[in-house]
Amino acid sequence: MARQFDAQAEGGKLVIASHNPGKVKEIGDLLGPYGVTTVSAGDLGLEEPEEDGASFAENAKLKALAAAEAAKLPALADDSGLSVAALEGFPGIYSARWAGPEKDFALAMERVHEAMADTVDRSGRFVCALALAWPDGHCEVFQGAVGGLVIWPPRGENGFGYDPIFVPDGYEETFGEMDPAEKHAISHRAEAFRKLVAGCFGEP
Ligand code: IMP
Repeated sequence: MARQFDAQAEGGKLVIASHNPGKVKEIGDLLGPYGVTTVSAGDLGLEEPEEDGASFAENAKLKALAAAEAAKLPALADDSGLSVAALEGFPGIYSARWAGPEKDFALAMERVHEAMADTVDRSGRFVCALALAWPDGHCEVFQGAVGGLVIWPPRGENGFGYDPIFVPDGYEETFGEMDPAEKHAISHRAEAFRKLVAGCFGEP
């Protein structure tokens, strides 16, 4: 059984090992009902470790452990991206980096499109790994994924990142065209969160 997050200890404080305010708020909102008070790694002035893991799970784990050890509090990190079958899983853990220093996702999508050229297999999947670590070095990792097709040209203005070129299995719209609530119900992140909450947070 996974180790439980103790909402009574330290006032239920949990470090979100991210410097992205949007991500921190979203995670804080999701865990609010479980008596969790979130504080971001950015607010605590923690350094971001080098993401040199070989998988989403490894990267999530190293970010969570670094924050938990530095803050002496439990810490949650996520790592996610788009893995394309015909590209041997790329951009995968390099999904953010394919957008370059300007975080230009129009460019990142173009790079995926060019790399795929005229490949017949258009399948891909979004993957999200969530790691919950404690200062004693214990860590629990949960992963979610959603399969689909990589299309071209991009469609839709919703979402972020690679959403406009991804049509999830069983749907005709891209994540970029879909109502955000619909995406959030079926996404890789939603699945990883369901597993995390079931494993470590119990009943609200
Ligand atoms: P991370 O924040 O370092 O884990 O980088 C994740 C990257 O993967 C993001 O910058 C996006 O490019 C991509 N990504 C992850 N999840 C999604 C999603 O739900 N939609 C679109 N792109 C995503």
